[in-house]
Amino acid sequence: VSTAARPLMDDAGRLTGAVVVFSDVTGLVEAIAANQELVSNVSHEFRSPLNSILGNVDLALEDSDGMSAVAVQRLEVVQRNSERLLALVSDLTLEASSALKVHPKRTDISGLVETSIGSAQAQAERSSVALVADVPSPLWAYADPLRIGQALDNLVSNAIKYSPDGGTVTISASGTREWVRLAVQDTGMGMAPEDAAKVFSRFFRAKSARDAAIPGAGLGLSITKTILERHGGAIACHSALGGGSTFTMTLPVESAG
Ligand code: ADP
Repeated sequence: VSTAARPLMDDAGRLTGAVVVFSDVTGLVEAIAANQELVSNVSHEFRSPLNSILGNVDLALEDSDGMSAVAVQRLEVVQRNSERLLALVSDLTLEASSALKVHPKRTDISGLVETSIGSAQAQAERSSVALVADVPSPLWAYADPLRIGQALDNLVSNAIKYSPDGGTVTISASGTREWVRLAVQDTGMGMAPEDAAKVFSRFFRAKSARDAAIPGAGLGLSITKTILERHGGAIACHSALGGGSTFTMTLPVESAG
């Protein structure tokens, strides 16, 4: 049931009563849930054929010795677009799961940073971006390793994606006894401050990214923000057009409960 209330005033501004409206929104809630389930199921079904396409293209490219340069280029286009589609499907799957659940526990964040750098290595090498981690080990926080790993992967892959060739992405840590702060900083294209304030909104894309024709759906950061909020943490973005960006995640060290 959804409720709305409004006070009733007389001409002199005195409170004389109130109107309260109760509406049954069961149908609406059910419709939203059905919609999310559909998106979630469809995204899930897309995943296996896409993985198969990507796996076979990767294998063909590994074995491309006898192929002409044009054929290799075409396969690389298929590879790039399959990767984009797979990333979009992952974002959609997560976005549709309104019950994006987190299961926080005492977690060494430095291990997650290492894993994230490992998975971003190939993407970084393709655009000659250097990945630097300056994080003490161990670095304890109260975090769901799977979800915070996803959040980190997202920030690191964005940092590479929005950096020109030869840039540097640095992951650093700071904190207090209560909070761990993890910053992902890049030397990339950045964005105007008014855009930086909106990057966590669903489907928002900064003008700098659109002007540079860098593909994306504008979903990753909204999911990342949800992940941090479900931990009782936060995420912030500082950026300057042409001057790189820094995304800072804050996580609790101990359970709040
Ligand atoms: P996507 O990258 O798929 O568009 P995101 O939600 O991850 O979606 O990011 C939203 C927008 O924020 C991007 O489209 C881009 O404009 C901007 N953005 C994110 N990360 C960076 C970054 N490191 N440098 C510059 N712009 C960024």
